[in-house]
Amino acid sequence: MDTAKQTQKEDAVNLHLPNKEDTLTEEMKQEYINNGGNICPYCKSDDITAEDTDYFGSGQSTRVLCNNCERYWFDIYTLTDIQEA
Ligand SMILES: [Zn+2]
Repeated sequence: MDTAKQTQKEDAVNLHLPNKEDTLTEEMKQEYINNGGNICPYCKSDDITAEDTDYFGSGQSTRVLCNNCERYWFDIYTLTDIQEA
């Protein structure tokens, strides 16, 4: 019975570990960008939440968490233009 418990625990841990299938391909990135960054690039859920944003030079990166598959990634933004207000 302890063995079953242990297996269950390992499964829960493995859920959060990156594996080969989690690798972001260029296609996945492009699709994500084409969708305006509104759906998870891994599971396609739209239940995603933007978290911390870091600013650097003329860009910023925002950590985004998927509430469905619990993976996260970084949106990278670059300042491309300004407009008179
Ligand atoms: Zn997801």
